[in-house]
Amino acid sequence: MKAAVFRGVGRPLSIEDVALPQAGAGELVLRVHYCGVCGSDLHATHPGLFVVPEGTVLGHEFSGEIVESGASDWKVGQLITALPNNACGECREQGFGECRNGLGMICPQNRLTGFSPKRPGALAQYVKVPAGQAIALPAAVGARDGAMIEPLAVGLHAVDAAQIGIGARVLVIGAGPIGLAVTAFARQAGAAHVVVSEMASGRLAIAADFGATALIDPAQQEVGPAFARAAGAPPDVIFECVGVAGLIQQCVDLSKPRGRIVVVGVCATPDQITPQRAMAKELSVQFIMGYAKTDWRRVLDLLDAGRIDPGAMVTDTVSLDELPAAFEALRHPSGQIKLLVKP
Ligand SMILES: [Zn+2]
Ligand SMILES: [Zn+2]
Repeated sequence: MKAAVFRGVGRPLSIEDVALPQAGAGELVLRVHYCGVCGSDLHATHPGLFVVPEGTVLGHEFSGEIVESGASDWKVGQLITALPNNACGECREQGFGECRNGLGMICPQNRLTGFSPKRPGALAQYVKVPAGQAIALPAAVGARDGAMIEPLAVGLHAVDAAQIGIGARVLVIGAGPIGLAVTAFARQAGAAHVVVSEMASGRLAIAADFGATALIDPAQQEVGPAFARAAGAPPDVIFECVGVAGLIQQCVDLSKPRGRIVVVGVCATPDQITPQRAMAKELSVQFIMGYAKTDWRRVLDLLDAGRIDPGAMVTDTVSLDELPAAFEALRHPSGQIKLLVKP
């Protein structure tokens, strides 16, 4: 089968012929219908703390049709998506993690599908997943939106962590897929104001489709005063959805006293804050890592009920052969939001 293989920093993904995966007991093999490219795929192939080994096949946001099943409750031909987790399933017992609470994402044993050569991802024609992570996709949701559940679930998990009250004033920094998902779910959670700050004008314009009540271009306007003009007071909750050093301190300075900062953006470099400035306001800062399986099921229900439509996030769909060039293009600022691959 064809797969996009990482061959080292500075080299484009290489489309190669690799062995077809085979389903062992408790495993499923899917023919991939769609796989999204994520900001963390770019991080993982860029110099820094978080580079994947050579030989890795990326791709952790996918949907597909079962072609081989090693689990009696899953049948060939079913359309599914699956969490990329390969966690131990047990570790809450030993006190090391939270698998028993459905949070395999923060299990110390977890090795994500699409981030190591041992767990090849779905930027390929076929991918293998543990049956325990599979979720069936109803026809009304379909394969394209099925591949969007992963980033949407990150947004939902972050909004839960923010404990947004009805009528809250919310600032979302960054309007990539996660920022847009956060925007939509924050509105649904009862926020009166969801103001989005984003430098890329294409992304900023789309934020209105996801429920943003006001838009700020931080290159043109100072965020604090612009937020206060739009919402009447400083933010109760700020979501950092970019992942660039310096932004957490900006959130501290923008927050109202006793506000909450939720850090969703992946920053893999050291960052500096002045704790006293956060103490002086008694701020809460919560970091987010992924989601639980229950978040995926809730996103699926919202998609099925037509309460969220991620269609506007999908700015391009390419074949596997077109992927290497499209992937490199994402490294430079552009109007792209979500690139989908249809292998
Ligand atoms: Zn992702
Ligand atoms: Zn575990």
